[in-house]
Amino acid sequence: MSLRIDVFTIFPGIVEAYAAESVLGRAATAGLLDVRAHDLRMAATDVHRTVDDSPFGGGAGMVMMPEPVFAAVEAVDPPRPLVLMGPAGRPFDQSVAAELAALDGFSLLCGRYEGVDERIRTDLCDDEVSLGDFVLAGGELAALAVVEAVARLRPGVLGNSASPDDESFADGLLEYPHWTRPAEFRGLEVPEVLRSGDHGRVERFRRAAALARTLERRPDLVERRGGLADEDRRLLAEFGFDSPT
Ligand code: SAM
Repeated sequence: MSLRIDVFTIFPGIVEAYAAESVLGRAATAGLLDVRAHDLRMAATDVHRTVDDSPFGGGAGMVMMPEPVFAAVEAVDPPRPLVLMGPAGRPFDQSVAAELAALDGFSLLCGRYEGVDERIRTDLCDDEVSLGDFVLAGGELAALAVVEAVARLRPGVLGNSASPDDESFADGLLEYPHWTRPAEFRGLEVPEVLRSGDHGRVERFRRAAALARTLERRPDLVERRGGLADEDRRLLAEFGFDSPT
């Protein structure tokens, strides 16, 4: 089943170019993904195809006007929800990606300038998501990040349906570290357990390493899971990782 994602933007070429390459391009060719970029200027009525105007109340910058944005979206009648990309939105994370990946389709609206007229947010869009606590020049990069994070959760897109389940955030932890050949590089050795061929031990080591890494770098994620279980502490101790008291 193909996932349809409509992206509204004044730079459809950016979206089309990125969506044509690599994982997204292969997913489209395989009929698993249908990304449609729509030019917000399509419904602008003046010769310059203007989509922005100065803000009421004064101040720097321009604001995207409601008429052309409503008209562009209504002309397409895209799959809902229509999600506005914006720094004031709810934080985009793996659980939001999973939410969107469970749908048949959804749409993204990319702002530019100082952002969109508030009526676009309240009366046209269904949701707003932020990529993080920083400000981009436009919503296109954020929208493409959403498209990619969501698409790779769809069955078949990665070719190996097991891989997203094993990754960072899939079970509330960061992923374990990886090594590849050579077994020794500039005196740095790959942990012996990974070369032991003992699959049970490898699995336990990876789980312990994921826990240790998450405790060190993102203790908030461990907290969110309700802290360490006795089994987690046993695993950390088995491979010599510290666990907090
Ligand atoms: N004036 C806005 C503010 O201070 O919140 C920033 C507008 S930004 C320059 C222009 C557009 O980029 C936004 O309308 C939004 O679509 C997009 N954008 C910027 N930062 C973003 C973020 N962290 N997440 C999602 N979209 C973002």
